[in-house]
Amino acid sequence: MLKTNEIPTQTLSFPLFHEKNVSVSILRLDLVHPDLSGNKFFKLRHNLMDAQDKGFRRILTFGGAYSNHIYAMAAAGKLFNMDTVGVIRGEIIRPLNPTLDTAEKSGMVLYPMDRNTYKKKEEAQILDDLRRRFGPVYVIPEGGTNSLAILGCKEILHTEHADATHVAVCVGTGGTIAGITASALAHQSVLGFSALKGDFIKESIRKLLETHNITPKCSLDIVTDYHFGGYAKHSRYLITFMQDFYKHTGIPLDPIYTGKMVYGLFDKIRGGYFPTKSKILIIHSGGLQGIKGFEARFGFSLYP
Ligand SMILES: *Cc1c(COP(=O)(O)O)cnc(C)c1O
Repeated sequence: MLKTNEIPTQTLSFPLFHEKNVSVSILRLDLVHPDLSGNKFFKLRHNLMDAQDKGFRRILTFGGAYSNHIYAMAAAGKLFNMDTVGVIRGEIIRPLNPTLDTAEKSGMVLYPMDRNTYKKKEEAQILDDLRRRFGPVYVIPEGGTNSLAILGCKEILHTEHADATHVAVCVGTGGTIAGITASALAHQSVLGFSALKGDFIKESIRKLLETHNITPKCSLDIVTDYHFGGYAKHSRYLITFMQDFYKHTGIPLDPIYTGKMVYGLFDKIRGGYFPTKSKILIIHSGGLQGIKGFEARFGFSLYP
């Protein structure tokens, strides 16, 4: 496991950056640990410590069948020597997909929840039922976003990144960008790329910041044009872009979050969004575990 100050930041070089006179680097959170990586490492860290401090032996959380959060939670349970329960939306189909297979092999107990009940999973009665079934559990919400996750994500940027003018981040539930926004400096702009379709995310992030008493010093902008049809949807252009990016840099991106963000970022650079001499920092939030499941689902190899 890399210490947070050992996580590499790499400079990227593309003719486009030269042409537009911007510099671009990438913070490789995907390299933190083979299984507990990316933003999920930062989101789960303080939650695990809190669960242990409070004497819990078992953590329960929620997610879809291909979820990066479920995968990371299972890995974290193994690393921190805690039991984990993953409540999975919908059916659990066997043989398991690569995400759930690895989670189960890491010791996670998988528990299916039908989609209608899943919608009400935060209600006291459902949680009581789960506690009756699984005993005393420390509950972490779907996607892992809570105040301790935001606290963890405040630790993503450090002094080495003080000269960045722009920070590009993927957005799912918004927990990661909330933490980054809380720690970004006054001269910086944080630019979020939403993986989900729709503008609702802007309001969710505003609420998250408000609830957690975060008054950003930086500016914040959320882009909602690069979801490629919605969560986990993709296009041939996206795939080709990710493959070219990999050939050029040796850096793999995932098709759900980081591929879409970097595609969107290149498009924004091309379109002149960034003033000349901008220093753009990309946060590679990981998600690479999802590639196997994606390949199995769509029947082709992303990085052959
Ligand atoms: C989970 C995830 C996100 C979304 O993070 P939020 O805190 O929910 O916004 C972004 N990128 C990757 C790779 C992820 O796995």
